[in-house]
Amino acid sequence: MRQPMEQGEVSIDRTEVTIRFPALFTLVMAANPCPCAAAKVIQCRCSPAVRARYLSRISGPLLDRVDLKLSLAPATRAELRYDLENAESTAEVAARVLEARERSLKRMAGLPWRSNSEVPGPELRRLFPPPPESLLPLEAALQSGTLSARGMDRALRTAWTLADLSSRDTPAPWDTAEALALWQGHPT
Ligand SMILES: [Zn+2]
Repeated sequence: MRQPMEQGEVSIDRTEVTIRFPALFTLVMAANPCPCAAAKVIQCRCSPAVRARYLSRISGPLLDRVDLKLSLAPATRAELRYDLENAESTAEVAARVLEARERSLKRMAGLPWRSNSEVPGPELRRLFPPPPESLLPLEAALQSGTLSARGMDRALRTAWTLADLSSRDTPAPWDTAEALALWQGHPT
């Protein structure tokens, strides 16, 4: 699982030959917060230790490679109704994503990549260095041990995507801070 997540391909080594299969994909995982998975948080009777043990079944190295981690609360009826009336259409969101994609494509003109997610970490830092003040949130987290080296590259890619979505030429400090919070799993 880690190799395709990291390299976008699966390679099978045999004595005579190595075969490579392309494996670029978007991985979406979902998990209950605890074993009882009560419909309402208030009904959960799991102890903190049970909850912690349950969540620790997802391996650290796998979570290290997940760019966006979100805790979702059950949707209320009011929220569902609001969504029905006010949510953007898929077409509107698709247009925004296309625009962001075009921004990143333009930045990578002449380079072998088509999206932020494809740029290898070292190249990302060398070719597209964000302004020093935008790196501060990531460097502070790296220093304090709440961000891994791999997470640093992943958060940097997310920050570029956030900048592309907001039509900014480079990630702002709040883009890197948001990318960091998304990687750590507690966005505001
Ligand atoms: Zn529970």
